Amino acid sequence: MPSPEKRRDEAWHTLPVEAVYERLHTGRDGLTEAEATGRLARWGPNELQATRRRTAWSLLLAQFKDLLILILIGATVLSLFLGHGIEAVVILVIVLFAVLLGFVQEYRAERAIEALRRMAAPTATVLRNGREVHLPASRLVPGDVVLLQTGNRVPADVRLTEAVNLQVEEAVLTGESVPVPKHTEPLTGASVPVGDRVNMAFAGTTVTYGRGRGVVVATGMHTAFGQIATMLETVEVSRTPLQQNLDRIGRVLAGAALVVVVLIVALGLLRGQPFLEMFLFGIALAVAVVPEALPAVVTISLALGVRRLLRRNALIRRLPAVETLGSTSVICSDKTGTLTRDEMTARVLVVAGQTWQVTGAGYTPEGDFVRDGTPAPPSEAVRLLLRTAVLASDAHLRFDEEHKAWEIQGDPTEGALLVAAAKAGLEKEALDERYPRLDEIPFSSETKRMTTLHEGPEGPFACAKGAPEVILPACTHQRMEHDIRPLTADDRDRLLETARHLAEEALRVLAVAFKPGARANGTGREDAETDMTFLGLVGLIDPPRPEAAPAVATCRSAGITVKMITGDHPVTARAVAREIGLTTGDPACTCQDVLTGAELEQLDEASLCRVVEQTNVFARVSPAHKLRIVSALQAREHVVAVTGDGVNDAPALKKADIGIAMGRTGTDVSKEAAAMTLLDDNFASIVAAIEEGRGIFENIKKYLMYLLSSNTGEILLMAGATLAGLPLPLSAVQILYVNLATDGLPALALSVDPPEPDLMRRPPRNPKAGLFTRPVVLLTLVGGIWSALINLGLFTWALHRGLALPHAMTLTFVSLVLIQFFKAYNYRSDRHSVFRRPFANRWLNLAILWELGLLYLILRVPVLEEAFGTVNLSLTEWGLLLALAATVVPVLELAKWFERRGFFGKLT
Ligand code: ATP
Repeated sequence: MPSPEKRRDEAWHTLPVEAVYERLHTGRDGLTEAEATGRLARWGPNELQATRRRTAWSLLLAQFKDLLILILIGATVLSLFLGHGIEAVVILVIVLFAVLLGFVQEYRAERAIEALRRMAAPTATVLRNGREVHLPASRLVPGDVVLLQTGNRVPADVRLTEAVNLQVEEAVLTGESVPVPKHTEPLTGASVPVGDRVNMAFAGTTVTYGRGRGVVVATGMHTAFGQIATMLETVEVSRTPLQQNLDRIGRVLAGAALVVVVLIVALGLLRGQPFLEMFLFGIALAVAVVPEALPAVVTISLALGVRRLLRRNALIRRLPAVETLGSTSVICSDKTGTLTRDEMTARVLVVAGQTWQVTGAGYTPEGDFVRDGTPAPPSEAVRLLLRTAVLASDAHLRFDEEHKAWEIQGDPTEGALLVAAAKAGLEKEALDERYPRLDEIPFSSETKRMTTLHEGPEGPFACAKGAPEVILPACTHQRMEHDIRPLTADDRDRLLETARHLAEEALRVLAVAFKPGARANGTGREDAETDMTFLGLVGLIDPPRPEAAPAVATCRSAGITVKMITGDHPVTARAVAREIGLTTGDPACTCQDVLTGAELEQLDEASLCRVVEQTNVFARVSPAHKLRIVSALQAREHVVAVTGDGVNDAPALKKADIGIAMGRTGTDVSKEAAAMTLLDDNFASIVAAIEEGRGIFENIKKYLMYLLSSNTGEILLMAGATLAGLPLPLSAVQILYVNLATDGLPALALSVDPPEPDLMRRPPRNPKAGLFTRPVVLLTLVGGIWSALINLGLFTWALHRGLALPHAMTLTFVSLVLIQFFKAYNYRSDRHSVFRRPFANRWLNLAILWELGLLYLILRVPVLEEAFGTVNLSLTEWGLLLALAATVVPVLELAKWFERRGFFGKLT
């Protein structure tokens, strides 16, 4: 085997396919698993530069780069020099605690993103031991045979060995966005530029049409792309609008707070307080009031939210999607596979004027053909229809020995046709051998049909299957049981009416046609799709997913509109929509509640904007229509989530506020365009993700209220005491302790608070409202001001009663900490009473118990007592402090009550 460098420089495009196989010691069936494993170990994974991973050490060190931490360390050193040993140690311990907390959180967040990167990594279809397997693209090795189809991202540099109408868009390499048609013939001239090597497909480019296969000749950094490109990010971690917003607000708050700090310190110095004490105090107060941790906490919460979303089968590729999810007001969903199971079964055949039922379930090829209520062997006309449908299909039916079940590889619609044919004793492999395929015009959502050309013992012929209204106009004859007759306009109308009746029963209907003597390849290809002979109709059932109807109902109560956008027939679409509760439309009425692609085309932007609000089902639409629907909804100020799987869905996925790709059936192109991928293709998972998104946002609000009200309370207390000419109510160490130790754990616990039960019974959040909604600001201020009032009052009263300063300070310190505990519970909701489910957050309960324990130790253990400058409190004093702190509960309850009653005006 040539070395990677030799392989890179080899002119693979000049070699015939057999020579390529020979040089790479491989063959048509690809490598064996053992050989591939060996090559992987030898040549390394097919990756562009290992993603830069931050090690635990670098993360830990990064914590010390924080300006505040550096200032605190400076303060520690200063205290040490000036002989305040104990203070220095305490500050250091607190700093270390803060660093550790920051590290643990960031480490977890980093790992969550890392796991996502792994999951979002591209896959490839490869032949190993002659069998098709899906593998992470990173495991490809030179010599592997890969299969390519429309929508694939080419996983490595390959020399093509088969190309059926294959077209590849190579803009990433050549800048040229017009797709290049590919073939397999050797080229002459070793120095042909990359863009002209039309018998090769290069890593990073996209298959836009057709299918093919090829041998991997170069992987990883040795590919043409690897040499020019840096890492293609599979997961983007950009700053979300929310984070940017918080960064801004954080800076404003910090600026304002620092002014107050400087004033307090200046006043203290003027009053003749010792410089060092005031200096340390200033630093402590600055740490306390600057909400520097907020943006970091938000990032961590979003990143960890991503992990929870994954558990609900939603893979996030762009972080901002997490916060947009919560404000989604419209979901535009595909039908097939998302709202339905995509487990198609052929139920009805209409052939030569007769209706046949097909029995049996799933993909097991066992079942009977029933005519007029009695089983009967399939007639010649039925067999011809099934044979034609199978020949015009790419799917495969096979028995999976491992799971002891029949399974379909490829499109389930085609799979259902294969199963029905197998029930009549017709096997695809045998048919393909007898009637080899010469050419094909693949299926697309735009043309809604697929045509193949074959060679048979009686000469060439064409097979077509597709939507009845596309196939029937192309037919001039119809096959009856014993002869072929012309197809009149009346016949066509009658057959379309039959198709409509089948569709009313939620069946997907395909028409099948045939053309003997059709010429293969070249200019005559279009001929194959004219003057055809109609063979019959096939009705396929695709039952709705059982979770779909409840999920639609949840959306309704959550103020989210669900719109079905499907390529299927309007009547089928309406029938399925009714079953899952999307519309209540009467089947007999004309399609008012359903808008078709053709109708949509007649509408200008303004009318579409109007219609799009009232219509919940869009049928026979193409991806271009989907894009228009999304734009119209956005023009109506909706936050739109849209699903898509095909290459042509990419523009709509990008345009949507949240593009959702299908994990199982989606193309690589759609996945890359989307912000989120549904691992199980299930509509219910979208709704679960929205619920999770709402929860994440609510939790951010909770700890925002908690942390900011703590800051407000402290700065007001300090400013108040200073203005009133009192001594400082808290020492530097005490303030640091409250901020870096006491507030940390409960804030963390609030970020994983269980969602409120009515989360999905509220309308979607207004995306413009941001975090600082009126209740959030109100409760933050009320909590902060009340805490300051209580503590200031307590401190003044204690001094008045002649208590020693350390004693008065201890009372204030403990009261402040206790108030924070009560507030943590109260801020679990910005609207509901704390008494609704007071202890539902296990983590919060644990955090508070732990903190109470620590507080007790600080007051009882002599070393700590000395370090914190606290004194032991009597039981009565504890009781008094608890009662005082508890007053924050009714005060906040009252504020919520007024807010709920709309006392401060209606919330927009
Ligand atoms: P959705 O957008 O909800 O996933 P869909 O899968 O029904 O809808 P398309 O795949 O665009 O939409 O199919 C549109 C129509 O094309 C179908 O109603 C059917 O008549 C026809 N069709 C679907 N699959 C095939 C196929 N493999 N070969 C030929 N015709 C097909």
